[in-house]
Amino acid sequence: MQGAFAEHAAAVRRVGAEAAEVRLPRDLEGLAGLIIPGGESTTIGKLAVTFGLLEPLREFAGRRPVWGTCAGAILLSKDARRSQPLLGVMDIRVARNAFGRQVDSFEVDLEVPVLAAEAGACPPFHAVFIRAPVIESVGPAVDVLARLPDGRIVAAQQGRLLATSFHPELTRDDRFHRYFVGLAAA
Ligand code: GLN
Repeated sequence: MQGAFAEHAAAVRRVGAEAAEVRLPRDLEGLAGLIIPGGESTTIGKLAVTFGLLEPLREFAGRRPVWGTCAGAILLSKDARRSQPLLGVMDIRVARNAFGRQVDSFEVDLEVPVLAAEAGACPPFHAVFIRAPVIESVGPAVDVLARLPDGRIVAAQQGRLLATSFHPELTRDDRFHRYFVGLAAA
């Protein structure tokens, strides 16, 4: 309903999967996984309430892989430190707009060991942050997938649920999409 869904769909297709857009609860039928794109988490949450999507999305996240990028990661979180509609399915606490006004947007190379090919080598992932949240804390069931050089968490996984503060769909590096499609195919 908002954000870079077309770019996500294109990346999903590049890694060999099919993509469909979800705007209404019935659109979830038959999907193997779901990506919640970036945008503005308050707006996405309100639209999800208006379209009756909040409960169907929670139910979906209880049985299939879901990946949230940026605002999508905020939607997945249990705690965004303010009152707004959330799915609350991932045991992470996020801080919205964590990088302040002067550095609203930036790019940085991240080490993401989980993306390593079987042969072992894992070049850094060039990550694009746009008014991004950080993941301030994670619960015991959550694995940290990537940190900024200063140690702050920007990617995490809890079983079939994936959260990234940044936007892999805005680069030509499809490794995160391949990784997620692998989860959805399992
Ligand atoms: N700043 C937005 C929010 O807090 C997220 C920005 C994004 O998704 N690129 O919801």
